Amino acid sequence: MKTLLMGPPGAGKGTQAVILAEKLGIPHISTGDMFRKAVKEQTPLGVEAKRYMDSGQLVPDEVTIGIVRERLAEADCVNGFLLDGFPRTVFQAEALDDILTKLGTQLDVALNIDVDSEALIGRITGRRMCRNCGKPYHVTFSPSKVEGRCDVCGGELYQRDDDKEETVRKRLEVYNTQTLPLLDYYQAKGLVINVNGNQPMEKVTEDILAALKK
Ligand code: ADP
Ligand code: AMP
Repeated sequence: MKTLLMGPPGAGKGTQAVILAEKLGIPHISTGDMFRKAVKEQTPLGVEAKRYMDSGQLVPDEVTIGIVRERLAEADCVNGFLLDGFPRTVFQAEALDDILTKLGTQLDVALNIDVDSEALIGRITGRRMCRNCGKPYHVTFSPSKVEGRCDVCGGELYQRDDDKEETVRKRLEVYNTQTLPLLDYYQAKGLVINVNGNQPMEKVTEDILAALKK
């Protein structure tokens, strides 16, 4: 199952990806998580990516495509993968097609999580993430059992720098101008499955699994 998750920031891609990756036994590949790890480790990639992330901009295509190309060539991707947050531009989507063709494979489905735009700001500003494993929580919609600690690994929960309201507005604008056109790109290939993301998380998972079975 070679899948990508689409939808605006706050749609629930990361939340669903963690659950689906476990259920389907395929790796969850999040470019946002990869960049955050690089920022934390202060690698040259992290130093470059941080400049863009902090202002809600996209990291340049060449950099992003490079890390995805390397990741998809790893052995655990042979039977499938779940891409989360990539591609985000038509250029990246074309590059992904090229990467997969060279690996002798192709995309099976593009899952698009639809969420009313009014809900997104509240979801993102209330998001807390585990500093250690990256699992997302929400102060109201999905709080951790112990305040400030991850249920899975006990790591510290924090608010992402780019989840402050001002940066969120910029990210939503970038999504609308640069990423939304991708829906047409994948629609033309007949790969899009729309999922209603305005529902409790468990119901969204259920709908995705049912759609994938078909
Ligand atoms: P994305 O990866 O698309 O940016 P996340 O999965 O991190 O989005 O979700 C954004 C925030 O919204 C998180 O705090 C998450 O806990 C919360 N969330 C995710 N799915 C839902 C849902 N179906 N209903 C309410 N809140 C949700
Ligand atoms: P995310 O965790 O998906 O919300 O991504 C956080 C930030 O990482 C984005 O706002 C971008 O700055 C950067 N980023 C993640 N994925 C990409 C991508 N495919 N292309 C460019 N920048 C990205």
